[in-house]
Amino acid sequence: MTKVEEFQALGLTEVTLEAIREKGFETPSPIQKLTIPVLLRNENDIIAQAQTGTGKTAAFGLPILEQIKSGKGLPQALVLVPTRELALQVTEELISLNRKKISIAPIYGGASMSEQLRRIKRGIDIVVGTPGRILDHIRRSTIDFSQLKWLVLDEADEMLDMGFIEDVEEIMAATNQTKRTMLFSATMPQRIAVLSKKYMRDTEILKVESKQITADLTDQIYFEVRECDKFDALTRIIDVESEFYGIVFSRTKVGVDEIVNRLLERGYAAEGLHGDVSQAQREKILRKFKRKAVNILVATDVAARGIDVNNLTHVINYSLPQDTESYVHRIGRTGRAGNQGTAITFISNSEYRQFTALKREVKSEIRKQQLPSAEDVIEIKRNKIKDDLQEIVGGEGLINNYKTMAGEILEQYPPEVAMAALLKLAFKNELEPDTYPEVRSFSVDRKGTARLFIAVGRVDGFTAPKLVEMLKRETGLNDSKIDDVRILDNFSFVTVPFAEAEAVTRQLNKLSHGNQPLAEIAKDGAGNRSGGERSSRGGGRRVAYGSRAGGDRRRSFGGGSGDRKRKR
Ligand code: ADP
Ligand code: MG
Repeated sequence: MTKVEEFQALGLTEVTLEAIREKGFETPSPIQKLTIPVLLRNENDIIAQAQTGTGKTAAFGLPILEQIKSGKGLPQALVLVPTRELALQVTEELISLNRKKISIAPIYGGASMSEQLRRIKRGIDIVVGTPGRILDHIRRSTIDFSQLKWLVLDEADEMLDMGFIEDVEEIMAATNQTKRTMLFSATMPQRIAVLSKKYMRDTEILKVESKQITADLTDQIYFEVRECDKFDALTRIIDVESEFYGIVFSRTKVGVDEIVNRLLERGYAAEGLHGDVSQAQREKILRKFKRKAVNILVATDVAARGIDVNNLTHVINYSLPQDTESYVHRIGRTGRAGNQGTAITFISNSEYRQFTALKREVKSEIRKQQLPSAEDVIEIKRNKIKDDLQEIVGGEGLINNYKTMAGEILEQYPPEVAMAALLKLAFKNELEPDTYPEVRSFSVDRKGTARLFIAVGRVDGFTAPKLVEMLKRETGLNDSKIDDVRILDNFSFVTVPFAEAEAVTRQLNKLSHGNQPLAEIAKDGAGNRSGGERSSRGGGRRVAYGSRAGGDRRRSFGGGSGDRKRKR
């Protein structure tokens, strides 16, 4: 059973803890530690400040989900966010933490009004909305917030920046006065204080100080990659290093398990450490890692505490840590005892904002680099094979047992043909460029994709593969254009190329019966700032590429030489 004691200690109970277990959260983030107990204990309004990417959604979401009772009909909670993109993201995150059949739905501008009205009639417990559209509904009396218990102003600084102050004030004034207001923000401009004086009572201020820390001993680089390409990026980095010996950090336990399993599947020697690994097992794994019987250790921040290994070549931030301090902690593991190491950070679309803040705080240079290309990887592998070959040829007697057979083969085929066939046998398709999926930078993505909202979900019998199949059949898209599929109970999300989003939506809407649209464009990647930068948070499961990534690459080269050992 997964450990969630630290969350339990904050006052959360079993239903909520179950959700946290499934999410794979290991420890509460600093802002969650501050807000959750307060939100469970008293009735004060709160102002909470913490950097982007530090888990503010769960910081208000978990206490609300803990306390809310489903099925009252009228909305009990309203979360205001600046953009429709964020409305969808916050909805996704809250739904992923919902174990009580609470109905949660986004209400934002640009979506069909009639569909929204139907949705509101069916009853929504937690509304996640943009100020303009919410106010629209309030003014038309199409939504009744008289029973509201919680009002959350999320990303308050951005909401004010975007000129929503009057809308927000009007909503605060128009909703029932016994509600509890919680304001979450990355920064605290003066206007927020003014707003809170006017509309909030007994306000408690909870703030996570962001520390300025230097980390300059280590060579720091970063790559922009899509969430679904991170794994291929990781294997490329490992493949081009002659003696990779490193720790790969993931933010969740689920993430650690997934990375380890995929590495093992591809024949790498990896072990995983997180809070659910027993002490005995942990020690065994650490011994193995120290003597380099495995060269890749995948760990959460908590599990990596106290690991004392000096000569790492790499620390890889597969996902960003909870805060800047943990980043410095992580990368401090290379470059110890005078050894030069490299810290590599993968930044996906949805981590971009947090990374920008982090870069500002880590007072040292983090250089952007391009991932090694498939050709680079293949070239290095070829050279490695040649080196290994030389070693074997030089090692007297090692190949005597094969000489007779070699003679027999050469009688049958020309030498290059025989050699080529043996290489193919030994290395399968490892030296073939087609085996390596294209790893695109997400900045291409940011301009190039759109997130679609599709009005069918699990209750309609859809799974990710089924939805992909439906999209392929109905719209003619191929696998490589369908990304980040996320299936929820009543609806789904999927990312497609921006250029094709309109056409795909049109195709899909031909299928819908009545006047309820089947698909809507949730955001255009080139649109507003926060909209564009945070597209694939949450889901990130790679559906479309699944089949290509598989393949049997277990038989890899250089099994015996160097420190890089691989499992067979
Ligand atoms: P913010 O609103 O502060 O910018 P988010 O709420 O969007 O941050 O969270 C950023 C990411 O961190 C999300 O992917 C979320 O699932 C993840 N996250 C939140 N809390 C935790 C936690 N305690 N442990 C690990 N990951 C977490
Ligand atoms: Mg947020």
